[in-house]
Amino acid sequence: MNDNKNIAILGAGESGVGAAYLAQQQGYDVFVSDMGAIAPKYKQQLQQWGIRFEEGQHTEADILNAVEVIKSPGIPERAPLIKKLREKGVPVISEIEFAGRYTNAKMVCITGSNGKTTTTTLTYHILKKAGLNVGLAGNIGKSFAYQVATEKFDIYVLEISSFMLDDMYKFKADIAILLNITPDHLDRYEYKMENYVASKFRIAQNQTAGDHFIYCADDAETIKGMQSRHFEAKLLPFSIEQIIEPGAYLENDNIVININQEHFTMSITDLALQGKHNVYNSLASGLAAKVLEIRNVTVRESMMDIQPIEHRMEFVAKISGIRFINDSKATNVNSTWFALESMSTDVVLILGGVDKGNDYSMLTELVKQKVRGIVCLGVDNSRIHDAFESVVDVIANTSSAEEAAQVAFHMAKKGDTVLLSPACASFDLFKNYEDRGTQFKNAVMQL
Ligand code: ADP
Repeated sequence: MNDNKNIAILGAGESGVGAAYLAQQQGYDVFVSDMGAIAPKYKQQLQQWGIRFEEGQHTEADILNAVEVIKSPGIPERAPLIKKLREKGVPVISEIEFAGRYTNAKMVCITGSNGKTTTTTLTYHILKKAGLNVGLAGNIGKSFAYQVATEKFDIYVLEISSFMLDDMYKFKADIAILLNITPDHLDRYEYKMENYVASKFRIAQNQTAGDHFIYCADDAETIKGMQSRHFEAKLLPFSIEQIIEPGAYLENDNIVININQEHFTMSITDLALQGKHNVYNSLASGLAAKVLEIRNVTVRESMMDIQPIEHRMEFVAKISGIRFINDSKATNVNSTWFALESMSTDVVLILGGVDKGNDYSMLTELVKQKVRGIVCLGVDNSRIHDAFESVVDVIANTSSAEEAAQVAFHMAKKGDTVLLSPACASFDLFKNYEDRGTQFKNAVMQL
């Protein structure tokens, strides 16, 4: 038996620090290493728990010697240290894979290119309201590993990104939800869509006959990907284009969930989270809830009273008859498409930031129909100009949230909506999408 108890953790963010706590609790010798600066809050925790750490460097001797390495989802496979670990045969896993070994809780796991946080939050809200002893983790809130170490939940709802899935091997979701697959993060997948698709389908790996796989029957990449894969789990599709049973669908503007001889129905006008994308998210969450035999009344109430989620189609204010919406989390073209699609007024659209190789053509029709003008909020806006110069009358360049809010306000007419839904990452001008959304909201409040 291997008595090497050294575990190395790369990246001292929420997931890494939580994993360090759990690993120590399980009797490992833990070493945490972060190439950048560690946030004071996490440094303090590591010090308090007596866990060895370093920042600004990776001391290879300590890391290559580990029996296993837990890697932050932010570190790409191409990083030199990861390559060395692979060459040496040291297993590299994610925090979720590691922590999953130490809990018997049921797992509801949610992935997709868009809608993860919303669907995870909604599913958690339903289960919590139903009185289940449920935890919320993954890409959201407190680290899964830390919760496994300190709580005794019967069930978890986990938001899982493709980067996390890449380092998951044995972990099993009792209920897996794959919301959709549209191009995103391709820089991490050798610019090959099939690699990204394969990563997303890992959500269903290891599932067996008693498990459930919930997927979107309207999503072309998902359907294509399913054809070449084998599923042991029970398949539960959702769709707004066709009636599928067992499954969930839309019929005369009612959500219908039909599984296990049970019939749930609810008007989409009663949903607290509005927009076509949220119909999809609600169908997926509702299916998971009904698999878990939550009562219809609880599902309905939860879908009616869930609070809006910050930075996701969040209403900010109405000023001089102009509505302002913060959808800063829309960091790819597909999510901006859904945001625009849900608009029932003319729109001034704030777009831009770090372009991840975006193809804006899917927005052309909606921009033609609904957009009065575009306000670019980014350092390099050339690709937005190229895509939309012949489609809208006016495109302005701005370089701060304050300027963008002011320019958009002047461009808008009474009855319009100013929509920040950038289709791009935020790192050129902001710390992250939260910072972009918060600065925008503050700027709107100053108008
Ligand atoms: P994720 O966690 O996957 O990034 P979020 O729930 O945070 O997803 O939503 C991000 C953005 O994506 C939202 O601002 C919204 O505009 C859009 N969106 C949400 N759900 C969906 C969906 N099911 N399909 C497409 N776009 C969506």
